[in-house]
Amino acid sequence: MKSVMVAANWKMNKGPTEAEEFLLQFLKLIPQVDHKHYVFFAPAYCLPAFSERLKYNDIGWGAQNCYFEESGAFTGELSPRVLSEMGSSFGLVGHSERRSLFSETDQDVAKKVKALQSCEITPMVCVGESLSERKEGRTDEVISEQLSAAMDACDISKGLVVAYEPVWAIGTGEVATPQQAADAHKTLRDLLVAKFGEAGTKTKILYGGSVKPENAAELAKQPNVDGFLVGGASLKIDSLIAIHDAAIAAE
Ligand code: PEP
Repeated sequence: MKSVMVAANWKMNKGPTEAEEFLLQFLKLIPQVDHKHYVFFAPAYCLPAFSERLKYNDIGWGAQNCYFEESGAFTGELSPRVLSEMGSSFGLVGHSERRSLFSETDQDVAKKVKALQSCEITPMVCVGESLSERKEGRTDEVISEQLSAAMDACDISKGLVVAYEPVWAIGTGEVATPQQAADAHKTLRDLLVAKFGEAGTKTKILYGGSVKPENAAELAKQPNVDGFLVGGASLKIDSLIAIHDAAIAAE
């Protein structure tokens, strides 16, 4: 049986008050046994609410980005060391919006993987092809290159989560077919196992890209789909829980 993970990427949505309200409500609704399945990536100014409200449970949380140095003259950046001190257990790295809008490279992603792990934070590394890359038949090549760069910097004993997010499916309402997801996840699994052996079989690979309660069950049934990274549908408690429950039911 797979152990499901559902990660919420709030992007630049919600503020501290909404985060607080969301968490209070969410904690009332989900049973404790499900806590360990959830991870939240919230805007930086919401993280103190996560640090405070999730102090005594197993719900994971972290920043949507961080820098690869722990401190210094890096205006506007977030320190992995301080995130760790706040209690953050996960860090999102290499999201396609960071790659395309903020020019984050595979080399930057690799440095961030290392920095997060050195601060005892598990990196969640996003990989995914653009629509033109898919049309050119380069999906495997692109996601393999992205994952390989991250794996080279990774100490697998410190944890790693991979999120396959086809760029053309993020925020577009267009979701990968179960077969497309299964194919990409198999490519990623093979790479993880070739690099890390047994540990690679256990590394979670999440699917992301327009996941909703209606399509989660079918995707979750695919081999090597260990859960989801959810953007838009994670902003509402009921849809986030419904995605989680659909994934659990498909186990
Ligand atoms: C994301 O931002 O990682 C994402 C998958 O977004 P959405 O679910 O809205 O497509």
